[in-house]
Amino acid sequence: MRIQADNLDVIVLGGGPAGATAAMVLAGEGLKVRVLEKARFPRFHVGESLLPYNMGLFEELGIEEEVKSSGHVVKRAAQFWSGAGEVGGRLEFAKGTFTEHQQAYQVERSVFDEKLLRLAGARGAEVWEGCGYVSHAVTEQGVVVTCRDEAGETREVGAKFVVDATGMQAVTARKAGLRKEREGHRKVAVYGHFEGVEMPGGEETGDIVLLIRDQAWVWMIPLDEKRTSVGLVMGRAEFDAGRSDVEGLWERVVRETPELKRRMAGSSRLGALHIEADYSFSVEHLVEPRLMRAGDAAGFLDPVFSSGVMLAMESGRDAARVVSEAVREGRSMTRAMRAYERGVNEHLALFWQFVEAFYTRPFIELFLQPKAVLNLGSAINAVLAGRAKLPWAARWRLRVFFGLVKLQRYVPVVPRLRWVEGQPPERMVEEDREGRGLAAQGAGV
Ligand SMILES: Cc1cc2nc3c(=O)[nH]c(=O)nc-3n(C[C@H](O)[C@H](O)[C@H](O)COP(=O)(O)OP(=O)(O)OC[C@H]3O[C@@H](n4cnc5c(N)ncnc54)[C@H](O)[C@@H]3O)c2cc1C
Repeated sequence: MRIQADNLDVIVLGGGPAGATAAMVLAGEGLKVRVLEKARFPRFHVGESLLPYNMGLFEELGIEEEVKSSGHVVKRAAQFWSGAGEVGGRLEFAKGTFTEHQQAYQVERSVFDEKLLRLAGARGAEVWEGCGYVSHAVTEQGVVVTCRDEAGETREVGAKFVVDATGMQAVTARKAGLRKEREGHRKVAVYGHFEGVEMPGGEETGDIVLLIRDQAWVWMIPLDEKRTSVGLVMGRAEFDAGRSDVEGLWERVVRETPELKRRMAGSSRLGALHIEADYSFSVEHLVEPRLMRAGDAAGFLDPVFSSGVMLAMESGRDAARVVSEAVREGRSMTRAMRAYERGVNEHLALFWQFVEAFYTRPFIELFLQPKAVLNLGSAINAVLAGRAKLPWAARWRLRVFFGLVKLQRYVPVVPRLRWVEGQPPERMVEEDREGRGLAAQGAGV
């Protein structure tokens, strides 16, 4: 065992977007910070579609030019379609009146994450790659972290504070039994990179395409002119029924999802299929004396609205500001830490409201059949672009929208879709014609 006595202010566990952002901010404020990262970068990571509010974070961190220089695909909209490809549309960020940033990037995460981590290094953070967290102990004076390097040797590192940004590993929450699986969200993603997928062109170039099935969905993210990331997200039971033959499962879903089949015809896969299982969880406490949790380590949200990286960077920034203040004041726990916890949970809750609704039929019926009423779409646009603090004008519109989702259960505000278990929802032509309820009067969202 080697003991490092380096008078560190902060140890950041994990060098993903949350950890790199936290380290960048802390080092920028003149604190002595070290990142302990288990992997060596560049490393593969899922989660390639960013949100417009990421751009605000890049500007604030002063790294927009560095990020832009990677030549990432510009994303202006998200397209949501039923798996049959007949109902749906384009959510264009520039059209949202409460949305302050109009575009985002689609990024290859190995490239993007490495850039962020190197930028943190350039700002003065010390980065130890290949050193994985083993345990930590909080004392009166500080916190001691034990990590293990690639040679199997353990080291002890001391600091005043620790920020856990270890992603879904959420190492400190797991150890303390604070990581709780989100009920009803046992999902599995099967994904890979492909060449030759037919993606939107012209003005729609760069759009992410989401195809919706019952309790399941598909993402298609353009990584560059040739390569597309394609992933299937399904319930644990559907995956378990086909897990002995994942290739066969993939082919079946492609065959049964007409829009996916059309777009994938003539494509070829680059490398293996990856699997990510059981990923939604919440964490009971995000702050403890001398410890803060950020990014996925503070709770993982179903990725259907591509919120992960933006939320990770936002919480990484906020945690760093709060820690920096506590270190300067010589304190182990502050009010600002509690306020941080509330802020992170509020933004997560805003997305959770959409995620929970997404797996219900009334929401999908309204979401896939939008109509211009009361500018409700702009409130949805702002949330899905990543805006944390919504003005009142957006908040009441959200309430009206979710009120309509409730109403849609009983009265067809918009036409019903045919919902066959395990299949893509389809338009119900007969019921459309009957057009009962508000749908007949052209109402909707
Ligand atoms: C199927 C799927 C699809 C997704 N799609 C999107 C998307 O389109 N857009 C989006 O924004 N987000 C998406 N996400 C979410 C996104 O990937 C995460 O929210 C994001 O990576 C969180 O960043 P982070 O820094 O918190 O964690 P991570 O990026 O996971 O970084 C954590 C780091 O900690 C390191 N680490 C782990 N254990 C240890 C340890 N013991 N010691 C030291 N270091 C350790 C890891 O090596 C890693 O580098 C998706 C997620 C999934 C599962």
